[in-house]
Amino acid sequence: MPCPRFRDAISARADGEDLPPGISGRQLDAHLAGCEACREWQRRVGELRDLTDRLRKAEGEVRGGGTPTPLPQWEDGGARDAAR
Ligand SMILES: [Zn+2]
Repeated sequence: MPCPRFRDAISARADGEDLPPGISGRQLDAHLAGCEACREWQRRVGELRDLTDRLRKAEGEVRGGGTPTPLPQWEDGGARDAAR
């Protein structure tokens, strides 16, 4: 079976999705055991997933936690009116 089919399966598994039809987890593992290019690809897929997970978490912390920094309040009126 050609590598691209296994790579679909790798990314599906990394995403926690079902493997594409016709590929079993065992077949995928057997291919990975013998194909360095696909192992490297799997590693990159894993890193990318880690990265997006971390970004999503960081985003959640920024939005969810703590007090938002208030925007500076410009004093309007007062002094300027007096100077005029
Ligand atoms: Zn391969």
